[in-house]
Amino acid sequence: MSERTIAAIATPAGEGALGVIRISGEQAIAVADRVFTAFSGKRLSEMKGYTAAYGIISENGNRLDDAIALVYLAPHSYTGEDTVEISVHGGRLMLRSVLRLILKNGAFLAEAGEFTKRAFLNGKLDLTKAESVMGLISAGSESELRLSRAAHSGKVAKRISVIEQGLVALDASIAAFSDYPDEDIEGLDTQNFLRMLSENEAELQKMLSEYDAGKVLREGVVTAIIGRPNVGKSTLMNMLSGEERSIVTEVAGTTRDVVEETVTVGDITLRLADTAGIHETDDTVESIGVKLARDRIETSQLILAVFDCTSPLSSEDYSLLESVKGKNTVVVLNKNDLADEINDSDLEGFRVVKISAKHGTGYQELSDTIADAAGTSNISPDSAVLLGERQRACAERALDGIKAAIQAIKDGYTIDAVGVCVDDALSALLELTGKRVTNEVTDEIFRRFCVGK
Ligand code: GDP
Repeated sequence: MSERTIAAIATPAGEGALGVIRISGEQAIAVADRVFTAFSGKRLSEMKGYTAAYGIISENGNRLDDAIALVYLAPHSYTGEDTVEISVHGGRLMLRSVLRLILKNGAFLAEAGEFTKRAFLNGKLDLTKAESVMGLISAGSESELRLSRAAHSGKVAKRISVIEQGLVALDASIAAFSDYPDEDIEGLDTQNFLRMLSENEAELQKMLSEYDAGKVLREGVVTAIIGRPNVGKSTLMNMLSGEERSIVTEVAGTTRDVVEETVTVGDITLRLADTAGIHETDDTVESIGVKLARDRIETSQLILAVFDCTSPLSSEDYSLLESVKGKNTVVVLNKNDLADEINDSDLEGFRVVKISAKHGTGYQELSDTIADAAGTSNISPDSAVLLGERQRACAERALDGIKAAIQAIKDGYTIDAVGVCVDDALSALLELTGKRVTNEVTDEIFRRFCVGK
């Protein structure tokens, strides 16, 4: 693959002050020298790595644009190959015309993710880092960006490699007995084996549970704010979003639609819907809103059930509580600046927070309780969290292998049988980081990138 020199536009489509075209491969500098002429008269092939030249891009003597060419010499580049980055004015047609010229002069259009794939194949990054590149580019929330940064800095790879080293050491001990294939493992230090395997089992289990929390941090939580009319749902939503998004009014039943909003509470993005108040109604428009609210309870991952604590719970409140029982719910007792008439014993089994949405008090407690309900209180977006379903599946396979090895020891199987299970676990981890991975898997991973990455 590396024999082909590739090129692509590296900056997004659209207008920008600058646009960058990247060329990578053995012929990168020769190709760039055919289209770029430095004002200094110096050829790019005579330049050192990490140096830039100012000049023009021209085709048959016609100047296409002024340009800066930045030279990277292998292996000190993103891909690990000779690379030239050419910056020109960032218009779509401009970039296309320069790219076309570069392709005419010996480069091939890069496939999706090919630059990062080459970086991986040349040992510049492992798969956990490569996969974090997508998150760095497409992060939709601060937490997603921080999780991607942590993985890109190598934290995930490091955490996996500690487990991997433990399994390699186990494998080595097992191999030491391979001269005696019929030997029963009773004579070995099985207690030590079991201890090491159990430690790795616990660490993988922890990583898998943190994966779920990481997914919540990355993707956000679909959240419904529910409650009777006038309890302060819109005011709460405005408190969370910091802007007047829903209409707040003293006439009951004015929030008739589901208003979508994304807000960040602590580290979590809540994908909120402020719903019509849930109560029996004859008003047709309003009853559509009430149905939407009930649907929303079913489809939400988190429910903020709001009650007005200036009066005891009504029968409607009780039936609302009943409808969210067993669901991931935070009970929000609002208007606690006025009174506190709700009996705590009515709310047993629920997470309860008292706030005044109007005055913005109780926010921190609400934020902590939401993190608790969403399962993210124990992880920070800066920690080593597996990214994506592929990594999760590999970690789960490794865990299965370790569990099987533990069971094999407990059931008194031969050392070879234990070794096979440890090998399964090890190969799943090697696939996770990409140390041992098939071409099909690699192709599949990088196909998800877009051209130019
Ligand atoms: P919704 O129908 O549940 O969306 O209720 P609204 O958010 O429209 O609020 C109804 C009324 O209660 C408005 O007059 C709000 O100003 C008032 N309100 C909301 N939250 C509080 C609060 O924490 N304290 C006080 N004193 N009034 C509040």
